[in-house]
Amino acid sequence: MTSDTPRIVLEVAGLSVRYGKVDALRDVHLSVRAGQIVTVIGPNGAGKSTLLNALMGALPVQGHASGRVSYLDEDLNGVEIEDRVARGMCLVPETRALFASMTIEDNLQLGAWRRRKAGTRDYLDQLETVFSLFPRLKERRRQLAGTLSGGERQMLAIGRALMGKPDLLMLDEPSLGLAPLITREILRIVSELRKTGVATLLIEQNARAALQIADFGYVLETGDIVLEGVADALESNPRVIETYLGLA
Ligand code: ATP
Repeated sequence: MTSDTPRIVLEVAGLSVRYGKVDALRDVHLSVRAGQIVTVIGPNGAGKSTLLNALMGALPVQGHASGRVSYLDEDLNGVEIEDRVARGMCLVPETRALFASMTIEDNLQLGAWRRRKAGTRDYLDQLETVFSLFPRLKERRRQLAGTLSGGERQMLAIGRALMGKPDLLMLDEPSLGLAPLITREILRIVSELRKTGVATLLIEQNARAALQIADFGYVLETGDIVLEGVADALESNPRVIETYLGLA
């Protein structure tokens, strides 16, 4: 490793998750470095949401995880979800979970509450950073979140996550329910996040769109990582082409 290799932000080793008798993840290994976009692609039921929930320490009670997850060189075993967030991990769930009766700006403010509570004063700088990534949010800053289009809601969900200045941003199916053009626009913005140094773990069913912006990718099928590699190589892998890109 050279001295300019970005540091590992997230390292997962031998992660397995069971729901009762069901193996949802088996012996998963993956890592994400600062400024990288790493994608996990796979079909419905492959275990993608389970992976993100396990990483956040937010598995449902019937879920049992084993293996090791380290974040910024610290083992997360026994670390509560609030503490993971405080350390700079942030998950944008499929549901987007916005406050519909609050404005865009108020939703963004909420994303920064933890840092503001800790006395950090660069909230306005971060707001400007988010507005420069998502000019559409700036134009509509006083609009109620409940009146936004699906694409705008996804922008707001990502923008709100960025207000907490995470080191690791985890996105669960950001393209879900969105038209291809909007998906492309959102993923283009996600690819710009590299410049900010944030590491992104992108969970996607839309393999083509995800591999186009990612640095590295993993293919998850029924709980197993069956393939991994640099994103360009995966895009030209015959198995990926046949199963996920529909070009065969
Ligand atoms: P999707 O894209 O459809 O959300 P996914 O790749 O995110 O799928 P998971 O939701 O993680 O997959 O599910 C992985 C497996 O674990 C599936 O077989 C699912 O039925 C099972 N599973 C998920 N949650 C639970 C639960 N709370 N209890 C029991 N089994 C579960």
